[in-house]
Amino acid sequence: MYALLGRRHGFYASIAIFVLQLCILGYRVFHVGDHSVAGLLVNLISSYCTVWLISHIYEGNRRDVEQTLSSLASRDALTSTHNRLALTTAFGHFERHRHDESLSLLIIDLDFFKSINDRYGHDVGDKVLIETSQLIMQIVGDDNLYRIGGEEFCVTLFNQSVDHAETVGERIRHLVASNPYVYNDQHIHLTLSVGICSYQPGHHLGDLLRMADKELYRAKESGRNQVRLCSVPKEELPTTTVSPQQEAHL
Ligand code: GH3
Ligand code: MG
Ligand code: MG
Repeated sequence: MYALLGRRHGFYASIAIFVLQLCILGYRVFHVGDHSVAGLLVNLISSYCTVWLISHIYEGNRRDVEQTLSSLASRDALTSTHNRLALTTAFGHFERHRHDESLSLLIIDLDFFKSINDRYGHDVGDKVLIETSQLIMQIVGDDNLYRIGGEEFCVTLFNQSVDHAETVGERIRHLVASNPYVYNDQHIHLTLSVGICSYQPGHHLGDLLRMADKELYRAKESGRNQVRLCSVPKEELPTTTVSPQQEAHL
C-alpha cells in the first residue's frame, strides 16, 4: 500500500486492511466459535505492525530523499534560487496550463560584477551574489526568481501587465542600488541592468530569453543601471522565433 499509494494514503489503506483482517478473525472467534485463532491473532498483529512500521519509516525517508534530490536538481547551489532547469519546467507548465494568462520575463544582469571579483576576491563576489538574490527575492518572492547564469538572474511575472513588470524592474534596480554590500567596513556599491519582454502565443522560452536579453544589451549600452522594456508592438512580435529582420528591429 505504501509503495502503491505513498505515505499518507498508504497509511489509511493499511489501517483499513488491518481492521478488515481483525474483523474476519473476530467473526471466527465470536460467530463461528473458533478459539484456535488466538495464536493467529498474535502473529497477525505482530507481523503486520512490524511491516507497517518499517514501511512507514522507509516511505518517509524515501520521500525526504526524493524531495532533496528534486530540490538539488532545480535549485542553484550558491544562491538557493531556482535554476535554469526550473525555469524551463515552469515555462513548460505555463505553456500547458496557463497559456491564457500573460507572462512577463525580466533578465537581470549585475553591472561590472567582474570588477568586484577582481578587487575583493571571488568569495566576496559569491556573497554579493547571495545577498543580491535575497534582495530581489524580497520583491518577487522565491517562486519567481531564477539564477540563469553567473551573475544573471531571471524573474517570471505571471498574469501581470508589462507596465507592472517595468515597475518591478525599477523597484529591484532601486533596492539593489540603495543597499550596498558591506565588507570589512567598506561599502561595495552595486547596480544592475534589466531587460523585459512579454510572452505572446507561440513564443518559446528561447524566444523570450533572447528578446529580453536584447533589451538588457541595450540597457548596458546606454550606460547600465537601467530598465529596458521590449518596445515592439504586439502584432510585430514573432510568433515562433525571432527573425533577423525582427531582431534588427528589436
Ligand atoms: P557587465 O556590466 O557588462 O555585465 O560587466 P560584468 O563584469 O558584470 O560582466 P562579465 O560578463 O564581464 O563578468 C561576469 C563575471 O561574473 C565574470 C565571472 O568571474 C563572474 N562570475 C560568474 N559566476 C560567478 C560566481 O558564481 N561567483 C563569482 N564570485 N563570480 C562569478
Ligand atoms: Mg554583468
Ligand atoms: Mg552577465
